[in-house]
Amino acid sequence: MTNVIAFKKPKRSQQHKGKFLCQQGHHRWKVDQQQHFHSKQGKLLTLYRCQRCGITKTKAL
Ligand SMILES: [Zn+2]
Repeated sequence: MTNVIAFKKPKRSQQHKGKFLCQQGHHRWKVDQQQHFHSKQGKLLTLYRCQRCGITKTKAL
């Protein structure tokens, strides 16, 4: 029985690995090319979206 339990644990940890990385601030950022916009100062910003958790951030070019 212990062998079965030990065999299932790695699978569970792999499923939570992505969210764990995001929670630690290690997001998988991808540039969203279709959503450039201007800030209040007139600078062009690029939108980044995390492919794992879906949050977004902006970065000035
Ligand atoms: Zn993320």
